Amino acid sequence: MRDDIISCRLCDLCKSRKKAVPGEGNMHAKLMFIGEAPGRIEDEIGRPFVGTAGKILDQVLENVGIFRSEVFITNIVKCRPPANRVPTDEERNMCRQFLDIEIKLISPKIICNLGRTALNSIFASWGKSILQSRGKFINHDFTRYFLTIHPAAVIYNPKLRIVLEKDLSILSEEYKRLA
Ligand code: URA
Repeated sequence: MRDDIISCRLCDLCKSRKKAVPGEGNMHAKLMFIGEAPGRIEDEIGRPFVGTAGKILDQVLENVGIFRSEVFITNIVKCRPPANRVPTDEERNMCRQFLDIEIKLISPKIICNLGRTALNSIFASWGKSILQSRGKFINHDFTRYFLTIHPAAVIYNPKLRIVLEKDLSILSEEYKRLA
C-alpha cells in the first residue's frame, strides 16, 4: 500500500506535493495516532511528524512513557496541502481508503485523533470542538478513540503543551493497561 500512496493521483494534492507521506511505525502497534496532513518538512522527507510538530509529539510521548517505536503514526491525508491549508472534504474522502486500510492492517486497540481535522474526519457529525472533546475516550465503530489537540497548536500557543501532556498521560495510563 505504501507504493499505492506514493504514486497516488486521486486528488490535486499530487500536483503540488514533493513526496506523499504514508503512515509509519510499528505494524503490531496497539496505539495509532492520526494527524491532519504532512507539513513542509514531511513533504520533503516523505515521513509523518518529523518537523516541529513531530518533535513536540516525540517529546511529549517520551515524557508520558510511550516510545515512538511502539506506535503507528499517520495522517488523514497523505499529501501536503499547499501553504498548509486544511485539507478539503474531497481530499479527505479520496484519501480515506488508505487510512481505512492502515487501520485495518494495524488493528490498534486505541486510535488517538490529534486535532480538529482528525476529529471531524473520523466523527463526521460530532458537532463539538476539540477543546470540548479533548482528553476523552470514545467508542465508535468497534474502535476505541482518544481525542486531543494537535501538537502544532503548541507551536502557536506554548501554554497548550501542558494540555497535550495532560491528555497524553491519560492516554498512556490506559495504553499501559492493555494486555
Ligand atoms: N502535522 C500533521 O498533522 N502531520 C504531520 O505529519 C506533520 C504535521
